Amino acid sequence: MSVQENDIELIVKQVLLNLKNVTKATTKPSIGIFHDMEDAIAAAKEAGKKVKVMTIEQREAIIKKIRTKTIENAKVLAELGVEETGMGRVDHKILKHQLLANKTPGTEDIKTIAWSGDRGLTLVEMGPFGVIGSITPSTNPSETILCNSIGMIAAGNTVVFNPHPGAIKVSMMAVNIVNEASLEAGGPENIVTTVFKPTLESGNILMKHKDIGLIAATGGPGVVTAALSSGKRALGAGAGNPPVVVDETADIPKAAKDIIDGASFDNNLPCIAEKEVVAVKEIIDELMYYMVLNGAYEITDEEADLLTKLVFINNKGRLVLNRDWVGKDAYKILRALGKDVHEDIRCIIFKGGRDHPLIVEELMMPILGIVEVDDFNEAVEVAIALEQGNRHSAHMHSRNIDNLTRLAREIDTAIFVKNGPSYAALGFGGEGYCTFTIASRTGDGLTSAKTFTKSRRCVLADGLSIR
Ligand code: NAD
Repeated sequence: MSVQENDIELIVKQVLLNLKNVTKATTKPSIGIFHDMEDAIAAAKEAGKKVKVMTIEQREAIIKKIRTKTIENAKVLAELGVEETGMGRVDHKILKHQLLANKTPGTEDIKTIAWSGDRGLTLVEMGPFGVIGSITPSTNPSETILCNSIGMIAAGNTVVFNPHPGAIKVSMMAVNIVNEASLEAGGPENIVTTVFKPTLESGNILMKHKDIGLIAATGGPGVVTAALSSGKRALGAGAGNPPVVVDETADIPKAAKDIIDGASFDNNLPCIAEKEVVAVKEIIDELMYYMVLNGAYEITDEEADLLTKLVFINNKGRLVLNRDWVGKDAYKILRALGKDVHEDIRCIIFKGGRDHPLIVEELMMPILGIVEVDDFNEAVEVAIALEQGNRHSAHMHSRNIDNLTRLAREIDTAIFVKNGPSYAALGFGGEGYCTFTIASRTGDGLTSAKTFTKSRRCVLADGLSIR
């Protein structure tokens, strides 16, 4: 047996071990997981033939099972995700799984448009693409797979996933859960598939494959650019660096709490999370005072320099993010700086300039630089610069409707949360549905079942209209 096969066997054993006491025992515990990407695509295509003849009610039955199983397995998925990737917090990952199970739209999201009149009846119906290729990140691995599965299956598709290699165990578990749900609800096996060893190469095979009708790429700039260069229709859910603006009219104690709640959620891994603050000078000290009361720890300029050296690697004068610190607890980062702090500290804050590397870079760590500006005009300019044209997310705390409207229009992001924590945008403490794929780069916004459909017009001339 080759070393590679040994590796695969070890991974399978580990997944089975993790699945053992959690999900209902099945005869095929790793359904949908293949050695070869071509086989994974062929199997999803075959499953698609069965999905095609299923009723919408049958699809909804599968989705209901996925929801139940996600909730049953939320803790194990959260623990495995943190253990495998070394990123995030188990308590928050449990909440993320519960949220997606409860608030990801199903088949009800897909609507038909109709025109009827003297010349007959015309319908626009939303149909499946067939097999979707989905590339998923390490920061919300099982969350993205389960959330994508609900929306993509609701739309009548099957899915082939190419997960991040650093999150393969938890991703395989999610794929297995979806297939178990399908089988238990009378659907096909391999309704979603993946490979034991996803690589950039397997991702490229997926993106270029003739049997893939749509690509959903969730991750950093590299994968989104690759998906958009594939020659196929692609949903580009890319990186962000969301600023949060606080003006002098805001409810400062509430703004401070909301910002720390959002920025520390899952240790700042969500792409929508507050990554830096832009605050007018009139309220900046009060804001930081209340942030400290809400579990933030303020560091000095010298400590911010040390922090920069810790979380970046200097590569011939270019600062590169040190991935070892992504998604780590704030208190662990502070202890690495030699600070003797309590585990309750959930975010690090400091005052910094608009060009500070800890502010400009999308860190995905509970570190929040706070830029002081003279007034709201300057806040708008700085926030737009820091968002860097990602058109992803931005947030604001204010009671001035004109100010809120102006920033929303000028920064032009897919998400703009006003007077709440960033995660309100995902339906968590805010209205609206949940998604973990926010197609910021391609303008599709927060994806849901209808995003994974194609539009088809069906015309009956001079008939069926009863007006
Ligand atoms: P990443 O870009 O390193 O990896 C994401 C996925 O893309 C992985 O499966 C990876 O293997 C693959 N990949 C990376 N480069 C590729 C290439 N050139 N060709 C083909 N595949 C490639 O991202 P990550 O560290 O796992 O996740 C964090 C990043 O993702 C952050 O930038 C975050 O903002 C972004 N993100 C965006 C959303 C969104 O909905 N917009 C959601 C989650 C994460």
